[in-house]
Amino acid sequence: MGALDEGHFHEVLENGVELEPPQGIEGQPETLAIEDAVKVLLQGLGEDINREGIKKTPLRVAKALREGTKGYKQKVKDIVEGALFPEAGLDAAVGNAGGAGGLVVVRDLDLFSYCESCLLPFQFKCHVGYIPSGQRVVGLSKLSRVADVFAKRLQDPQRLANEVCSALHHWIKPAGIAVVLQCWHMHFPSLESFLMESNSQGWLKVLVRSGTGAFENDKGGSWSDFFSLLKFRGINIDNFLAEGSIASWCPSQSWSSLKGSSINGQLNSGMVTAVDSILRSLGEDPSREELVGTPVRFVKWLTNFQNTSFEMKLNGFVYGRGVDSLKANGEPGVNHKQEQLQTEVNLSFWSQCEHHLLPFYGVVHIGYFGFNPIPKSLLKSIVHFYGFKLQVQERLTRQIAETVSSLVGGDVMVVLEAGHTCMISRGIEKFGSSTATIAVLGRFSADPNARAMFLQSLPNSSTALGPS
Ligand SMILES: [Zn+2]
Ligand SMILES: [Zn+2]
Repeated sequence: MGALDEGHFHEVLENGVELEPPQGIEGQPETLAIEDAVKVLLQGLGEDINREGIKKTPLRVAKALREGTKGYKQKVKDIVEGALFPEAGLDAAVGNAGGAGGLVVVRDLDLFSYCESCLLPFQFKCHVGYIPSGQRVVGLSKLSRVADVFAKRLQDPQRLANEVCSALHHWIKPAGIAVVLQCWHMHFPSLESFLMESNSQGWLKVLVRSGTGAFENDKGGSWSDFFSLLKFRGINIDNFLAEGSIASWCPSQSWSSLKGSSINGQLNSGMVTAVDSILRSLGEDPSREELVGTPVRFVKWLTNFQNTSFEMKLNGFVYGRGVDSLKANGEPGVNHKQEQLQTEVNLSFWSQCEHHLLPFYGVVHIGYFGFNPIPKSLLKSIVHFYGFKLQVQERLTRQIAETVSSLVGGDVMVVLEAGHTCMISRGIEKFGSSTATIAVLGRFSADPNARAMFLQSLPNSSTALGPS
């Protein structure tokens, strides 16, 4: 078996689980405008927009963005009206529905939204509680749908919680509403800081809450009841930061002051204008205070994946003496030295899915037979050289394998484990799920024992693949 066929993984997704947005988005003027803007972005990255892998990217991105922001066109009224029904057992007095305090709690609604600072999707779990009053109860499935109306917009966690809370309060008119959101934002670094820090992957976790009525203040202990009910079901709200406790939960805020692209220090103003027009096409106002810096931040992030933004410092290594010492037994007189299985595991990487223009990230494990280990810094350079481009996971895996193979003479195995942001925004990402790809060359393709030996040397758990 050689390296996996490129594109296999995404084909499976597209034939199998890809969630198609409703008919009608395609061909609409807003969609076409976004497609044009995405073409500008791709060209700004030095890509050929007619290349097979990315030909459909503008349409995919446009559909995902419009589907992901459809909340601008939805009305809570349409969802809640008709879903409010009188509950006979409910006393007209406040809060006797379900026993203690009459609190009704719906936990663990898994949803996603778009960060208004960087335009990347973020995941959140929504927990809603309310104390019915006036004999009005709402169909529980509606709570999730109402939350989704506000999630499918460009958002910030606290505003999202506030909007869900006040909409529910307005329509249900209960004695109190409590909304708690646990949010996960990918902690992506700038290219510069990624190259400097060894472990710059992970998730920013923020917990926000919003309440009305009995939850407006905590006099009656309503919030502690509510949190107890969450903890009782194993919902772990520890280790979440309160949003107010950090300057900004979006990492793009902290590197927005960095100088522009790593190539020439200048941002491509055409790309910035293109993002501006995308915001308009989604129904947003780019001059809204929170969105003012968003196009520049988005372009800065994207520019990390410019076709030529990262020079691989192989220099003399590939063609110089370095390689000879890796391939051959360089010490005369020592004839019995065997080639050893050499491994380098858990090298972290970032890349950008060329089908959806969203990041994927994770760890690479490299195994090869050689007399001497390749310096870790060189392997890292190879991973970054191929990572910081528009990619698909299979190709990235194969390119790393082939390049290492050129250093050590053929016997190479590469395992790449990745989490894909594009799966979040298509609603099919289970928290913490990941995709593994494998490329095998030389002895590894022929010898199952060699493969087993390498796979056994892999760490049991990879770092920071998904939120937890
Ligand atoms: Zn963000
Ligand atoms: Zn993708």
